[in-house]
Amino acid sequence: MNKFLIPTHLLQELNKGVLDDICIRSINSTDFVVEEDFRGHNSGQYIKLITDDVVKYICLSRDDSEISRNSFILQNLPSAYKFYLKDTSEKKEFEYYVRDTVHVHPAYTVFAYKVLLTAKIKILNLDKVKCSGRTDYDFRTPFLDFKQMRKMRLELQKRNGSNNSTLFEQLSEEVAVYGKTYGANGRETTAICLALVNLVDLPIKVYNVNETDPQHLASVDPANRYILNYLGVIIDDGIKDLKPEDKELIVKRNTNTYHYNLLKKYQDKKCYICGCDIEELIIASHIHRVADILRSDLTAEEKQEQIVDGNNGFWLCATHDKLFEDGLIYFENDELKIRQNLSESKKRFIKKSIFEIRDIYDLEGKNLTFTISPEHYNEKMHYYLEIHRHRTEKLNVNRKEVR
Ligand SMILES: [Zn+2]
Repeated sequence: MNKFLIPTHLLQELNKGVLDDICIRSINSTDFVVEEDFRGHNSGQYIKLITDDVVKYICLSRDDSEISRNSFILQNLPSAYKFYLKDTSEKKEFEYYVRDTVHVHPAYTVFAYKVLLTAKIKILNLDKVKCSGRTDYDFRTPFLDFKQMRKMRLELQKRNGSNNSTLFEQLSEEVAVYGKTYGANGRETTAICLALVNLVDLPIKVYNVNETDPQHLASVDPANRYILNYLGVIIDDGIKDLKPEDKELIVKRNTNTYHYNLLKKYQDKKCYICGCDIEELIIASHIHRVADILRSDLTAEEKQEQIVDGNNGFWLCATHDKLFEDGLIYFENDELKIRQNLSESKKRFIKKSIFEIRDIYDLEGKNLTFTISPEHYNEKMHYYLEIHRHRTEKLNVNRKEVR
């Protein structure tokens, strides 16, 4: 006999119609009995469906209109998923059931559904869900790759003006996930990792980036830790107080925060100048260099701020990073300039390296000029660009090339 095990707090909420629907969608039957599951109040938003040969964990979303303003789809996932992982039954499955199919779901829930599908979690009644047309993404299909997942997450962040998204990037030896590991954002981080393991081959490492309070002693939510451990994801919770002698760790943490800030600022990871999106070639390039910041008269806090400031940099491909670092290209206000005392062939190479490559990506630059877009250009950036221009002017002042 099929049996629903339902916790006390959900028993009243789930009527026969809902249970019939879940049962038929999950095991194609309406033949079941209901038993109360005395597992306590804070034990997750899921029910169990037990048949002769399988134990199903069915995670439920909230059934009220909260869903239209909140990100509740992923919020119930980790605690339920932890119990699913702990279950020692021979055959077990994890499924999801959406309780509110009346309201139109906002773009964020489209993201959430795609995350679940990418994590290979079956959503039993996805066909009943109505989603807002405010996104181009299809909520019925998983993400094609991690870049698509990141792109959608960044678009949502931009739209909501929120600053706390979980973001991720591929580095040479790992996929770095920047996010929280506790609270609502922590649950999102965990869900994203569940999806990421199906999209990337590299090891995944979660960095707890907390830009508002770097000293915050954030503990990792037990359910999140359990799932991430199971997935083999390494957690760098960043709670250790670093002393000046922990130089390497400080550099590493700054690098992570800087990358996170650049992702937030530019909404993507591709060369800002030519548009190259081969992630292996893309470098987080400081405008005002870290070595120069460290040598300056600024206070320790000011130095720290400039080192991780997203306005103090671009994502650049290896070629444009080097050209920029050496000042063969620089900016006058928001406009890119090619150093004039270079040989004609060098200037031609640089021009082509920018504008012919931009052509590949259908990016603007038809009249061979390039300017920083107004949404990225600001006073802080101007300040750093002036420092860069003065530094590299001195470097290039005696350069006289003819050919
Ligand atoms: Zn480039």
